[in-house]
Amino acid sequence: MRIFDAHCDALLKLWRHPDLTFTETDERLQVSLPEMEKGKIGLQVFASFVPYDVPVTNRYAALLEMVQLFHEKIVGSGLKPIYANQDLAQCVLKKEKGAILFVEGAHPIDENLNYLHTLHRLGVRGMGLTWNFRNSVADGSHEPNPGGLSLFGRQVLAEMNRLGMMVDVSHLAEPGFWDVVELAEAPFIASHSNARAICDHPRNLSDEQIRAIIKKGGVMGLSFVDFFVTSEKRTVWIDDLLRHLDHVCALGGSEHVAFSSDFDGTAVTFGDLKRAGDYPLLVDALCKRYKEAEVQKFLCENWLRVFRNVLQ
Ligand SMILES: [Zn+2]
Repeated sequence: MRIFDAHCDALLKLWRHPDLTFTETDERLQVSLPEMEKGKIGLQVFASFVPYDVPVTNRYAALLEMVQLFHEKIVGSGLKPIYANQDLAQCVLKKEKGAILFVEGAHPIDENLNYLHTLHRLGVRGMGLTWNFRNSVADGSHEPNPGGLSLFGRQVLAEMNRLGMMVDVSHLAEPGFWDVVELAEAPFIASHSNARAICDHPRNLSDEQIRAIIKKGGVMGLSFVDFFVTSEKRTVWIDDLLRHLDHVCALGGSEHVAFSSDFDGTAVTFGDLKRAGDYPLLVDALCKRYKEAEVQKFLCENWLRVFRNVLQ
């Protein structure tokens, strides 16, 4: 079975630790070429996230360094960069490993639309509008009294739709989410967000939000971060994650739910799902509960459909 995972932070680790290679197994890296091979991952989204401890004036430069690392270390290790629908189709047909470059949080672009255009030219094909905090586009999930999309944020959304970039609402506060629902001209995704009805966390989506994603033809990716899966203080297992999947399916979302590990973006993982190479354990668990055609949708087809709809 082909696996498509729509969020990992391996680029952040590669940026923080210049000695890391992507081609060798390393304890510090949950997603690497050997781990992808072991996990049978065919398509992987690589998010570039500039940490907030980077001074404001250096953030765009730091982002460009991560973009460079994507090309140098990830594409350089043989993964096919996905820029267009045609690349996606070829990748699937030839069973090649594909890599899609995203930005997590628009804070490095400040208020400069040219920065967004440059990123698109450099191969970025998706962006999370915010991380946890406020930026010039919108407010993040952890802001008190959050507002929706700014005027600049509306321009960013329109440009992303025009350029065929994936709009990602994970980390976005609710007012901004509803603005995207109203204004977006293409389906959008929540690349790594779980169900709030199962685990009440501001990063997770309410049933109303999940229904809106379904209605708009989008997809949400369930993440393997333990505190998004359960609020109980204990070791989390694949079975706990599948409660989120069951819930989204019960809301009518079986065509709109998939997986996004968030590996390398979190130190806290499951008892059983700890690295990209552990994906077969998830596949086995899914096959015990769901029909094969459905499992294929969760693991790949749902992401493929929405990326096909958005990429040009
Ligand atoms: Zn994130």
